[in-house]
Amino acid sequence: MTKKTFPLSKKELEAAAARFPTPFYIYDENAIRENARRIKAAFSIFPGYINHFAVKAAPNPAILRVLRDEGFGADCSSFTELLLAEMSGIKGEGIMFTSNETPSAEYHKARELGAIINLDDFTHIEFLEKTAGLPKILSIRYNPGPLKLGNAIIGNPVEAKYGFTREQTLEGFALLKKKGVKRFALHTMVASNELKTAYHVETGRILFELAAEIKQKTGISLEFVNLGGGVGIPYKPEDEAVNYEELAAGLKEAFDAIMVPAGLACTGIHTEWGRVITGPYGWLVTRAIHRKNIYRKYIGVDASMADLIRPAMYGAYHHITVAGKEDAPLSEVYDVVGSLCENCDKFAVQRSLPAIETDEISGDLLIIHDAGAHGRAMGFNYNGKLRCGELLLCADGSITQIRRKETPADLFATF
Ligand SMILES: *Cc1c(COP(=O)(O)O)cnc(C)c1O
Repeated sequence: MTKKTFPLSKKELEAAAARFPTPFYIYDENAIRENARRIKAAFSIFPGYINHFAVKAAPNPAILRVLRDEGFGADCSSFTELLLAEMSGIKGEGIMFTSNETPSAEYHKARELGAIINLDDFTHIEFLEKTAGLPKILSIRYNPGPLKLGNAIIGNPVEAKYGFTREQTLEGFALLKKKGVKRFALHTMVASNELKTAYHVETGRILFELAAEIKQKTGISLEFVNLGGGVGIPYKPEDEAVNYEELAAGLKEAFDAIMVPAGLACTGIHTEWGRVITGPYGWLVTRAIHRKNIYRKYIGVDASMADLIRPAMYGAYHHITVAGKEDAPLSEVYDVVGSLCENCDKFAVQRSLPAIETDEISGDLLIIHDAGAHGRAMGFNYNGKLRCGELLLCADGSITQIRRKETPADLFATF
């Protein structure tokens, strides 16, 4: 079980809503920092541990700077994500550039920043050499194919477009060495939102075994292996969060059994976690403005799937609480819906909730939990929807706006 909490009282939240228009995202700086510290502490048993925060999960410089302060780097996959890392003060090898079907301009930018480029395909060795040039350090993204079963969000590795095959990985390292590359890393990412520790340990084991084979066949001692992202969060109250210490201990056991005898005791561990870093510490706050009773009871809110698409896209569960009614009986069953002209624009379907008051000014504030990663970031402008702003509950208890709500002028700027 995971208790769903929110850092502000109803009074404090109403005060924030009086200053900033609803809907908005709000993130808890202290909680993000504490979480980052717990991860670092658990993984300090490995040499050179660093998490490159997946920028796509929460692409806001204010959040990236908090994570940079905590010693995290950035994982970027596009030109603008590289710019976001740069403007947040994350530099050089703090940046992992894990892209695919990459245009040369993006490789040039990654080279300019001194980022660690993670090649997605064998043909990119030559492409990179001819365009931006080969750096001294390179990483290869490995796709284990039939060796590993994927999960629901990311799919089966055999059908995944990413990475090198096993044979290509071995050939790729040999070729890079021949071409004068001096430092090497190995990456994979096979899961998304996976809560089972054993699954992540198994991924580590596959990478460690491949690292040992690379050493044996090419003489290359990898500088680090990168386990990618994909650690899940307990979206449902009945879910259990991943225990970092247990995960690190499981990986350490595999590391000691495989890497140490292979002469790779100094190889570091990197991760590219996004969701588990900020997901539980960001909330979408929206006001209940309309009610509608037809074949079902609906509560219409001022946010829409343009602000948070996960429920519509994946049927994802996001817990909802009502400010000030945390302990009220769940006496009603509602669909909580947004205003987009799509019937999938529902934050909750047939959900038991307290009785909700609706009004544009005084209606209840609904708190949609676990929206701190892949939330605002996946927003869109269909139906002319203007994406909402973002607030940060700062370490000192103050609230600052870290992104304003979009205006019609933003939407029309590209005409
Ligand atoms: C999306 C992504 C991540 C982050 O995944 P989370 O599920 O947010 O941890 C990391 N690395 C790569 C290459 C990704 O595509």
